[in-house]
Amino acid sequence: MSVHVQDDRERDSDSQIPRLDFELTDACDHRCGHCYNVWTADEGDPNASFPTGRPLETPDFKGLMSKAVDQSGAWHLTITGGEPMIRKDAMDIIEHACAIATSVTLITNGSHITQEVAEKFAKWGLGHVQLTLLAGDRDKHNALKGAVCFDDTVRSALFLADAGVHVQCCYVAMKANEDQFEPVMELCAALGIRSISYNRMSPTGRAIHHIARLMPTIDQIEADLDFAEKRGPGWGLSVATAMPIPPCLVDIDKYEWVRFGFCSTGSNSPNIVIDARGNVRSCNLSSGVLGNLLDDDWETVFANPYPRTFKATVPDMCRGCAYETSCQGGCKESGFATFGSHTHPEPLLWLGSDPSRLEALTADVTQKAPPKMKRGADTSHGPR
Ligand code: SF4
Ligand code: SF4
Repeated sequence: MSVHVQDDRERDSDSQIPRLDFELTDACDHRCGHCYNVWTADEGDPNASFPTGRPLETPDFKGLMSKAVDQSGAWHLTITGGEPMIRKDAMDIIEHACAIATSVTLITNGSHITQEVAEKFAKWGLGHVQLTLLAGDRDKHNALKGAVCFDDTVRSALFLADAGVHVQCCYVAMKANEDQFEPVMELCAALGIRSISYNRMSPTGRAIHHIARLMPTIDQIEADLDFAEKRGPGWGLSVATAMPIPPCLVDIDKYEWVRFGFCSTGSNSPNIVIDARGNVRSCNLSSGVLGNLLDDDWETVFANPYPRTFKATVPDMCRGCAYETSCQGGCKESGFATFGSHTHPEPLLWLGSDPSRLEALTADVTQKAPPKMKRGADTSHGPR
């Protein structure tokens, strides 16, 4: 998931942006119920029919990355997926990203990082690797990931730390791990991890069918943030919220240690993403394609009015709010994915302000059992 930060560096033209995300593949070997990838939506869902298909071959994808970087001015790249390390040519592509950008972050599920891989990352100057830890408890983590992967992730963190690569923890707050943020912070401190990206579940893709069992409560989120505020400084563990926390639900001003960000779409540091076929979207959780960089230049794709219109579009309840132009209603793509509208309050806002709405929501949006657990003792075998 994305970190929602502003970047105020001067730019040469209106189409220049500081960062870009690349989705190397749609595939993933984990089965998270909270997966936000828009191509995991069911037929009939608002995110349905997202164009998928064969990814570009290695030279074409590397060429696309170079074109995007040259034309957009982006200096920070994030490599993500799906699970990016599943691509056979993942290491080739990551090395290329490190060569063409000042700073690169890899977001990975942690099942494919060996010592050798970590050492290569260090050699190429890969800045950060973000690994997901959903629980300090092995079984709870594995159950939420739908895969036996906790030990792999911990091992990956140690390999990366040994190699000198900065590790960031991605935590997703859900009802099913409501007692796990404290153990995750403790585990991070023990592993030498210095930063946590705190995401409250933001349902798009298949996740809209797991809202009833996974959507966190506001009390739970506030308790997590209170703990981060209390213990983060002593452990030297920075905590930043990646998915926006609407200030009408949580008093964000009472926190000094925890950093908060809002939606970056339409800002001067948008989280624009390019998929494995060259399709460009305004962020990972958006299923709206702005254009394709194989067909058009960056300036043409960037001129698509979608992000600016999106930024100005807020739910009625947000009109006149002091945070109307900053918070903008939280994560509106999750509002679209769940309710089919960018002006409908998104699920956290909708349920957070009145939990009794869950019954009506789940009558409209089919809810499912957890995805089946993928078995396998150890998946840590490096990129395939
Ligand atoms: S903009 Fe909307 S969601 Fe954000 S704080 Fe105001 S009312 Fe709440
Ligand atoms: S819609 Fe905004 S808040 Fe939601 S993921 Fe996209 S950039 Fe982030």
